[in-house]
Amino acid sequence: MTVRDGRAVAVVDVGAVERNCARLAAELQAGARLCAVVKADGYGHGAAECGRAALAGGATWLAVAAAAEAAELRAEFADVPLLTMGALTDEELGAALDARSEVAVWKLSHLERTAAHGEQRGLRPRVHVKYDTGMGRLGERDGDAVLAVVEAAAADQRLELAGFWTHFATADDRDSDFFDRQLERFAALVERVRAEHPDVLVHAANSAATLRDPAAHFDMVRCGVAIYGLDPFGADPYEQRLRPALELRSYVADVKRFDVGDSAGYGRRWRAPVETFVGVLPIGYGDGVRRALANNADVLVDGHRVPLVGMVSMDNITVELGPATQVSPGATATVIGAQGDERILCEEMARRLDTINYEVTCGISKRVPRVYVRSA
Ligand SMILES: *Cc1c(COP(=O)(O)O)cnc(C)c1O
Repeated sequence: MTVRDGRAVAVVDVGAVERNCARLAAELQAGARLCAVVKADGYGHGAAECGRAALAGGATWLAVAAAAEAAELRAEFADVPLLTMGALTDEELGAALDARSEVAVWKLSHLERTAAHGEQRGLRPRVHVKYDTGMGRLGERDGDAVLAVVEAAAADQRLELAGFWTHFATADDRDSDFFDRQLERFAALVERVRAEHPDVLVHAANSAATLRDPAAHFDMVRCGVAIYGLDPFGADPYEQRLRPALELRSYVADVKRFDVGDSAGYGRRWRAPVETFVGVLPIGYGDGVRRALANNADVLVDGHRVPLVGMVSMDNITVELGPATQVSPGATATVIGAQGDERILCEEMARRLDTINYEVTCGISKRVPRVYVRSA
């Protein structure tokens, strides 16, 4: 990829998003649709661009968490079915419906409120009744109570009962049998809902559930992290035949010779153990390179891993290029991504930060321009 690198740039390959979606869609149970989750600006990758790539790759739905995200997407995609999955204030509910988004409900009061908003707008909101099978977050936990909401939604002429759904708490933990228990609880009610309402769209699986258990596919899967080529199990996306879509790049702004004992950065947190060369990269925690990576990360320069040394500042980091370096100012520095055969995955950075790959890409700040490319 030949993108002219600024001080810090996130290069997003929409071709990778498209192919990741195609890979997921090809392996769904017969009849199951792919809903691409593009909340939080497409996990930091860009919601509209990745949404478009996902649709090209076979997704037929888009999902977000917030009403404002739904409004943004509706401006880009006139006809795509949209689901807003999050809790909504009264005002947000109005905004979601204005965006012709379908919405989550799990209480009788939600139905009343949604119906009233629909009447005001002269439309019939499509609602997805959420069953909390163990996530302990949004949804109704009691089976009988959630069935009562399903029946009330179906009976209310001002609403359309569109979906019945749940969300898994431990799909990414392969050893967890809690996943299987949630699936059993959900499946038991699905049978009863389908018997009365055969057209209801049943959905449960996030990326991890989609990859681990076809029995969780039902009528639709909601994949986020995997469409961006991140491994939902936190290991290696290539093992899942997913390709990372994002690279975070900077460049070597300066190369300086250090004598033994010379220090780099705030607090003198690193000192040269030998005579060596240090590269200065104009990217820092203001761009999303977290401070906990101080003396705790590698960066790729000229196809080699070099250690990040010293503190991460807001706008700069320093790397040790070594005593015999050939690197000169202007060289591309890859903080996340590949150079030649070397690769720094979000999963590696997440492990160093004791977090998950999701947080790494969501944490790339607004200051970093997203540049879109399409690999073949
Ligand atoms: C974010 C989210 C998803 C997507 O999860 P991934 O692990 O990124 O695939 C699916 N469903 C709900 C309810 C979500 O909040």
